[in-house]
Amino acid sequence: MGVSFDLTGKVAVITGAAGILCSEMARQLAERGVSVAVLDLLGDKAEKVAADINAIGGKAMGVQVDVLDRNSIINARDIVLKEFGPVDILINGAGGNKKEATTSDDMSFFDIPLEALQWVFDLNFIGTVLTTQVFGKVMAEQGSGSIINISSLSSLTPLTRVVGYSAAKAAINNFTQWFAVYINQNYSTSIRVNAIAPGFILTQQNYFLLVDEKTGQDTERGKAIKKNTPMGRYGKPEELVGAVIWLASDASSFVNGVVIPIDGGFSAFAGV
Ligand code: NAD
Repeated sequence: MGVSFDLTGKVAVITGAAGILCSEMARQLAERGVSVAVLDLLGDKAEKVAADINAIGGKAMGVQVDVLDRNSIINARDIVLKEFGPVDILINGAGGNKKEATTSDDMSFFDIPLEALQWVFDLNFIGTVLTTQVFGKVMAEQGSGSIINISSLSSLTPLTRVVGYSAAKAAINNFTQWFAVYINQNYSTSIRVNAIAPGFILTQQNYFLLVDEKTGQDTERGKAIKKNTPMGRYGKPEELVGAVIWLASDASSFVNGVVIPIDGGFSAFAGV
């Protein structure tokens, strides 16, 4: 038997799946025959993503969840297990940053409010840990599964300004390694835990930071990013999916506890 990337009939739970990157993962996994539980704080948006997948012949279900509320995750788990059965793939995608936790001309590091730092750390790190406590336990009981955490290249060498976000994503990398070892040593050697660290993906949210609205040219930050990316461009949401399929499938059956940068070479380049 050759290497298998086949995911037909598997069940995936994706948090933050109403968002830009994880909705793309949800759609593409569904195209490959995966039943996808689209979990998001925004229940209506999650249901819309699921409805669009179902409309083109895929199998998906939207479930409202707050990854910072254990009871909410347990509720989602019960719905997923009832509707779809055992969970093969967990993608911890809920995450993000907040202006108040970011340094700028108006905000020195010394003035960043604790609540803003706490918010970013909780959403990215604690949200990943809590969701893994609930769905990782399901996998521990099943004795199988693949967990994919969504980190960021800012976890490897921190980007300027995003202090809490970088630290929280670095904590996700550390947890990815820790939990891979823990689950193998204590529960099953058939469960794998990995992360992807996306680089600069041009999305609606960062478009106007990176592209000048009037001229359509790169902003100074945009120019700096491209200059420091050996491939000389931004990534597209769909360019994360290949690694997700690989990590979710048997094709990566001996890949465990690693963080895969997907950044056009940005993290490999010292700038000289
Ligand atoms: P996005 O804002 O489009 O999606 C994030 C989703 O998470 C949203 O739908 C939001 O409703 C949901 N969410 C927020 N709080 C939640 C909560 N408490 N419980 C459940 N869901 C919640 O962002 P995105 O750009 O698609 O990013 C997805 C992931 O990828 C994030 O973890 C982000 O940090 C990471 N990432 C993004 C980039 C990028 O360039 N966009 C780069 C590196 C890493």
